[in-house]
Amino acid sequence: MYLTAGFVFDDFDDARNRFAGVDPGYIYSRYANPTVAAVEQRIAALEHGADAILVGSGQAAISSALLGLLRAGDHVVSASSIYEGSRALFLENFPALDIESTFVEDANDPAEWERRIRPNTRALFAESISNPRNRILDVAAIADVARRHGIPLVIDNTFASPYLLRPIEHGADIVVHSASKFLSGHGTVLGGVIVDGGRFDWGAHPDRFSQLTHPGIDGGPGFLERFGRTAYSAYTRSVIVSRLGPTASPFTAFLIQQGIETLSLRLDRQSATALALARWLEGRPEVSSVDYAGLASHPHYELARRYLPRGQGSVFAVTLRGGVAAAKALINAVGLFTHMAHLGDVRSLIQHPASTSHAHRTDAQLRYEGIGPGMIRLSVGVEDAADLIADLERGLAAIPRSFDIEAAFSGTNSPPDGAVAAGLSAGPLVTVSTRTTER
Ligand SMILES: *Cc1c(COP(=O)(O)O)cnc(C)c1O
Repeated sequence: MYLTAGFVFDDFDDARNRFAGVDPGYIYSRYANPTVAAVEQRIAALEHGADAILVGSGQAAISSALLGLLRAGDHVVSASSIYEGSRALFLENFPALDIESTFVEDANDPAEWERRIRPNTRALFAESISNPRNRILDVAAIADVARRHGIPLVIDNTFASPYLLRPIEHGADIVVHSASKFLSGHGTVLGGVIVDGGRFDWGAHPDRFSQLTHPGIDGGPGFLERFGRTAYSAYTRSVIVSRLGPTASPFTAFLIQQGIETLSLRLDRQSATALALARWLEGRPEVSSVDYAGLASHPHYELARRYLPRGQGSVFAVTLRGGVAAAKALINAVGLFTHMAHLGDVRSLIQHPASTSHAHRTDAQLRYEGIGPGMIRLSVGVEDAADLIADLERGLAAIPRSFDIEAAFSGTNSPPDGAVAAGLSAGPLVTVSTRTTER
């Protein structure tokens, strides 16, 4: 592990040659670091891409990947059901840079993407599996639209990981990840990665991506001329990431590398356990719906069979009939599930989107996204399925039954006064402390 800011130069000429790019030797860890580079190469290989850039968080990966494509006056089209941080980036940060965004409501409708594309559109963005309803993107159909318009398709593949899905194989041009999730897998670090598929034809419209096709600030040859198929990643690495500075620490890189070594084992186990839990929950009377693409009841079951034959991942939503009071009782009663805003961890995690990650959304938006007051999100870890079911059983048993909860909360996002208190007073909650859930 190269925990170093800079790298020693052998002599005067060596320093000059490294800076001139004649010698590929390392200079300073914000530009490149051997530990970080080793992980970048592994992730590029896992995604079947040409190059990868490791950065300090998933948000850094998404913002840097897009800033490598978009400049003032440009436009991006994005699926509307995306991670809240990405959505806020499009709605709040990009307008400040004079970059406009348009959202597509049905991410699997190529015609809607076509309608939203403008002459200045420079990127299409979507997630392979969306949060929290487990919607699966028809990557090939959207990649087809992107290709016909000469616009790169950027896919956030965090929920699938390259073990379950490799979007580049289905025509995506750039893949981003929050490596804080499945890639690192243990909830210990934040990281992000940008993978360059290396197939997009940046020179097809020479003025469209002039940052790659025109001469650099020194008047020398442009990135496309110098780097060919990895022009985009070379530019994004040296002009965007190195300058804006969301560098990944070598220590972070090491922990992500450790995580990747068990990626296949974890995802096999977590997907299988998630499916078992989803099936079990679907049969419970307290549950009104389970959004897991591995279930035949999910609208994207067929897409999941096509794109995710190895497993559908471990994150899904469960909606309880008892509304927010039921969600609150269950979350407070479980012990093996850790209550945390995170996912893709070896520990099973639980969260209530409507009062946390999606709390700033209006009721209308929540209804549109299908995020109700009784919805909880699970991220299934590697624990024993029977133990997890026992824990959920305990959580379901804690749901108050003293009155008709469904009638009391139907159609409202917040329960009437007193209802929550009634829910909380419905018997002692069982607290299980078989393990430490804090770090
Ligand atoms: C967590 C997450 C992000 C943001 O990643 P950070 O590492 O938290 O910055 C982006 N996209 C998706 C789908 C995520 O789950």
